This record gives sequence, C-alpha cells and structure tokens, in this order.
Amino acid sequence: MSSAPSPASPPAAGTRLLHDAAVNRDTAFSARSRLALGLHGLLPPAVETLEQQVARVMDNVRRQATPLDRHLYLRAVHARNETLYYRTVLDHLEETLPLIYTPTVGQACQEFSRCFQSPHGLYLTAEDRGHLRELLRRWPRPGVRVIVVTDGSRILGLGDLGANGMGIPIGKLDLYVACGGIPPAACLPIMLDLGTDNTALHADPFYLGRRQPRLQGAHYDALLAEFIDAVQEVFPGVLLQFEDFSNEHAFALLGRYRGQLCCFNDDIQGTGAMGLAGLYTALRLTGGTLAGQRILFAGAGEAALGIANMVTAALVAEGLSEREAREHCWLVDSQGLVVAARTDLNAHKRPFAHTHAPLQDLAAIVAAVRPQVLIGASGAAGLFSEAVLRELARHCARPLVMALSNPTSRAECTAEQAYTWTEGRALFASGSPFAAVQHAGRLRAPGQANNAFIFPGVGLGLLASGATRVSDAMFFAAARALAGQVSAEDLAQERIYPAAPRLRQVALAVAQAVAERAWDEGLAHQPRPADVAAAIAHLMYTPRYAPEA
Ligand code: NAD
Repeated sequence: MSSAPSPASPPAAGTRLLHDAAVNRDTAFSARSRLALGLHGLLPPAVETLEQQVARVMDNVRRQATPLDRHLYLRAVHARNETLYYRTVLDHLEETLPLIYTPTVGQACQEFSRCFQSPHGLYLTAEDRGHLRELLRRWPRPGVRVIVVTDGSRILGLGDLGANGMGIPIGKLDLYVACGGIPPAACLPIMLDLGTDNTALHADPFYLGRRQPRLQGAHYDALLAEFIDAVQEVFPGVLLQFEDFSNEHAFALLGRYRGQLCCFNDDIQGTGAMGLAGLYTALRLTGGTLAGQRILFAGAGEAALGIANMVTAALVAEGLSEREAREHCWLVDSQGLVVAARTDLNAHKRPFAHTHAPLQDLAAIVAAVRPQVLIGASGAAGLFSEAVLRELARHCARPLVMALSNPTSRAECTAEQAYTWTEGRALFASGSPFAAVQHAGRLRAPGQANNAFIFPGVGLGLLASGATRVSDAMFFAAARALAGQVSAEDLAQERIYPAAPRLRQVALAVAQAVAERAWDEGLAHQPRPADVAAAIAHLMYTPRYAPEA
C-alpha cells in the first residue's frame, strides 16, 4: 500500500463497518475498499481471502480446550463477521455442528448467563405485556422471514432453563442459515422470558433472566396471544417455529395457532418426520414392512407423540384404520406403560392406551410388548439398561434402537452399549452424535437421528412456496424426502440417516417435497416454477463476500 489514506475518509464509518457483523469482512477488505471506506490503518495490513480466514478460525477452534470454549469462540466470530461464521460452519459441518448445536448447545444454555458475551435476538418479558409490537419493531434488521421462539421451559432434556434457553433459537437459526440456505438477515431468535420455576437460577448471581416464578394460566395465554398478533402485524407472512416449550403448553399452542399463521412445533412435528424417516430407512436394511413393526416409545411427550402420530398417519396411508395403526405404537411415560386402565393420561396419550396390565419396569415392558423398534424420547439418561437391550435382542434378530434424548448426557444409551448388549445386531441412531464404534471387528457408524435433517428444509420449502399454513402432509412428505436421501454408502455402514456433511443437500430435497405439497394443497401464494428444485436452489444463501463496488 503506497498511497496514504484520504484525509476525507470518515474514520467513524470505518469503525462502524468493523462492528457490523452483517457487512464486516475483517482482513478480507481489499486495499481499495480500506481506502474508500476509511478502514486503512484500522486493520492489520494483510489482505486475506475468505478461505484463509476460515482456516484461521478452524485453527483457533481446534486450539480451544473444551467444546464449550469452541462454542464460545465460534459465537464471537458470529458476532463479529457473519459471512465468515457461516462459511466456516458450512465448510466444516461435521466438526462444527456438535459445537453450535447438540450436544454442546446444551451446556452453552446451562452456562448462558455465566458465559454471556454479546446480545443476539429479542428478549420479551411478562412485564412487556401491552408493548410487544413496539419491541418487535425495535429489531433493527429488515426482512425477517423466520422466527424461532422459546419460553425456555423444556430445553432439550435439561428441563426449565429460563432465559438461558436462548441458545436454542440461536442454534436452530444457525442451521436454518447454514443448511437451509435462509439468509441470516431473515432470521430472528426470540426468548419469551416468562419467569422460571428453576429455583437454582433464582439463586444464581449471574442469571440474566427474570427471577420470578413462571407466568401461568390466563396470564400466560394472554401474553402468547398478544405475541402472536404482534408477530403477524410486524412481520406479516413470517414463519414461526415454536421451540422447546414444555409439553404443558406445546400441544395447546400448536393447536391454537396452526390455523392462524404459518407455524409449526419442531419438537412435535419435526421430530415426527425425522423418526418416520429413520424407520423407513431401517426397513430398507431389515427387509420388513412398517405394518410389520411394533414400536415401543420410552417417553410419551412431544417427541414420542410426534413420531407415533406420524407413524399412525403413514400406516393409515398404507390402508390400515386409525385404530389398527395405533396398535403398532406403544408408549411408556414416567409412570409406566400407557394402558387403558390408567386415569392420569392426557388427551394426546389416550389414543395410544392399549388394553394391557399396567407395568412399570422397562425390561418387563419390552418382554411383554416384544417390539422390533425401541425409541427413547424420555430425557432419562441410561434408561436403556443392559437388561432392557438384552431383552429386546432376545426376541428380535435386528432391532432398531433410537436414543433420541439430547444432549449426549441424557441419551438413553450409548452407541457402544446398543451394539454390545444386542451382540452387534441392533441398528442404532441417536439424537446427539456418537463416534463410530469398533464392535466384533467391524466399524459401526451410528446415524444422527436429529431434526436438523428436517426443519431447515421445511423452512426453506415453506418460504420458497410462500406457504400460508403448515400441514401434517408436508411433514409426511419431508419424512419421505429425508429417507430418500440416505445413500447406498450410508446403508453399507448401517447408518440410517445421511452423514452430516450432506445436510445442505438434504435440506434442498426436503424443501422441494414440502413446497410441492404446499402447491398441491393450495396453501402457497408464490407461483409454482417449472423446475422447483432449481428455483429453490437458486434462493439459497451461500456465505461469501459480495463483489466490492
Ligand atoms: P417431554 O417433556 O415432552 O417428554 C418427556 C417424556 O418422557 C414424558 O412423557 C415423561 O413422562 C417421559 N419420561 C421421563 N422419564 C421417564 C422414564 N424414566 N421412563 C419413561 N419415560 C420417562 O419432552 P420431549 O419434547 O418429548 O423431549 C424428550 C427428549 O427427546 C429430550 O431429551 C429432547 O432433547 C429429545 N428430542 C430429541 C430430538 C432429536 O432430534 N433427536 C427431537 C425432539 C426431542
């Protein structure tokens, strides 16, 4: 660089640019731009490419001592330079996904207040009632198209984390961007901080949320009603994803609002599609039929019921009556087997209550039900004990075991346990990733049974088609599309979900299937293009610096 900076260059503009993550390029600002934008002297002299910057970020990620440190380092990159952050995530999905998403995001939420670095998203509290519109309007970036909202009441399998749960909407939206190709400016994470019943948080000196008991009953409903109205007014046509609401509210909110705006609950519907896709793929390996399976769910909450209802819909589509279809699904909750004689069942579990003697012990339940498929969605770590898995393998040659609970610390069993206690006969998938396991001289690569394969594509398909509502048939289509993305190579390794690096291609396939359904069902307001896949691919955001002016 030979010429001196123009005295007319406004240094304030330069500094502002470097602090705006949406436009900042750090060391990738060219020499010409540095002069034109008043940045000369504010950056080290080297001019780098995005690829060089990504290499430095990954070098630093790998130097961090713990997964949480890596997570926090990446969050700092996100706050500084959005393009660099998403390019890094996309180019190193397999390595970064467990850091920005499950399992590390669980710890990041638990330590959210202690490790707080910089704000991102909107925080709305019970005290803001009557002013939610104003606060939504305060969001500075135009063009919001997807909102992920939580009230922090059921964060992964970790329970009520109050305002610390904000890590989840942020993490989910990161996947919308990196995998679903939704532009970062279109994404808004929202925390509805309506208090917390986690008394340890009230006593935590670092806690950043409201130290009040959770809002209940009519007050809760009124605040949510105001929030939904405000969202529709301030961001008309937005897609709203309900995330990690406790099941006391999750089903009710979905039921109440799915006819009013474009919204879904990922824990119920996304998990349903993800689970059904895993079943379809496992059947390609075992050679069975869906109607030939008895599925035992350990857990009878949002995730288990989401999958059970999706399996029911799939069996009805195959010609079974709804009653016959439900007989293939057996549920266990914290009180034991869900049976007709129980008087404590809510309306969502009741249709799956079969006539059977009450049982509590899971191994005894497995012996009685004799399932081919055992799905854990309980948040109860280690629930699939040696006795449970040996009993499962005793009557089934190739059982499917899915330990869906997140994060890893809540998984019902590890990959190694699933293979060891079934003499290597189980097909296994888990919500959080497990490394490949050497068992009986064979390397087994467990698949990650995670909604990450569903929601980014669902969101992309809804936005691309301009869908006004989200139907169950769209999730059914998403499940089939995901199953179709499992390659022969995946199957050769007995992996029933695609490998993480293919998440973006999977999202495109899921988006296409969802958008086609939206058009078929008359729920889309965008014109249907001749080549749907190409049109959607064209819409996808790719993190790169725009050519400089
Ligand atoms: P939830 O609170 O709605 O349901 C939990 C259920 O587990 C309840 O029915 C409860 O009675 C039951 N339960 C608790 N302890 C049990 C025990 N010892 N034995 C049997 N049942 C027991 O929660 P949810 O939304 O259904 O989520 C459950 C878990 O699934 C969480 O850990 C969550 O992270 C995980 N999940 C994973 C994915 C994924 O993509 N892999 C998706 C959704 C949920």
